[in-house]
Amino acid sequence: MNIVLLGPPGAGKGTLAGLLKDGRDLLHISTGDLLREEMQQQTELGLEAKSYVEKGELVPDDLVTKLLANKLKAAPEKTGYLLDGYPRTRAQAESLDTLLNQIGRPLGAALYLDADLDLIIRRITGRRVAPKSGRVYHITNRPPKREGYCDESGEPLIQRPDDNEETVRKRMKVYLENTLPIVQYYEDKGILTKMNGAKDSEDLEKELIEFFDEQAKLN
Ligand code: AMP
Repeated sequence: MNIVLLGPPGAGKGTLAGLLKDGRDLLHISTGDLLREEMQQQTELGLEAKSYVEKGELVPDDLVTKLLANKLKAAPEKTGYLLDGYPRTRAQAESLDTLLNQIGRPLGAALYLDADLDLIIRRITGRRVAPKSGRVYHITNRPPKREGYCDESGEPLIQRPDDNEETVRKRMKVYLENTLPIVQYYEDKGILTKMNGAKDSEDLEKELIEFFDEQAKLN
């Protein structure tokens, strides 16, 4: 199964990705994570991307598409992929179609997770991440066992520099202008499934089971 995850920042795409991967052979590719890795290693691409990411703006299409293409081409052939945070513009959606045609790994579904701005701001400003293990916490909704430290790796948790209210509002504006229109792009292709990002992970899991049942009926 090859899937793209769409939705505003903080709608729960990371949580959904975790649920989807559980027990399935899926490669989770988050362009945000790939960019943060490049920034941390101070590669040429990372240095170029940094100012955009920190301001909550989109990194130019060609840079992100190159990163994604390298990752997808290197993925084992039988493994399905789960794209998180890409595409974010119409141009990226079209580049993705071209790339997937070239490598013969077509998209099976687009899952669109929606949530309103108040919820997004509460979620994102309370979000804390463990940079090495990749685990994501929330100061009230999903606190770690020991405050400030990852349950799995013990490393100190950090707040992403772009997870402050001002940048979240900017990211939401960028999302509404550039990314929301591509929901229609996938609707027109007949592969869009909508989900409610306000739900907690147990309810989302139920929605996912229904989604996979539907897919099984179609195939
Ligand atoms: P995320 O982790 O998905 O919230 O992404 C964090 C930031 O990385 C975004 O606010 C953008 O600056 C940048 N970014 C991630 N994915 C893309 C993309 N597909 N196109 C452009 N910029 C991106």
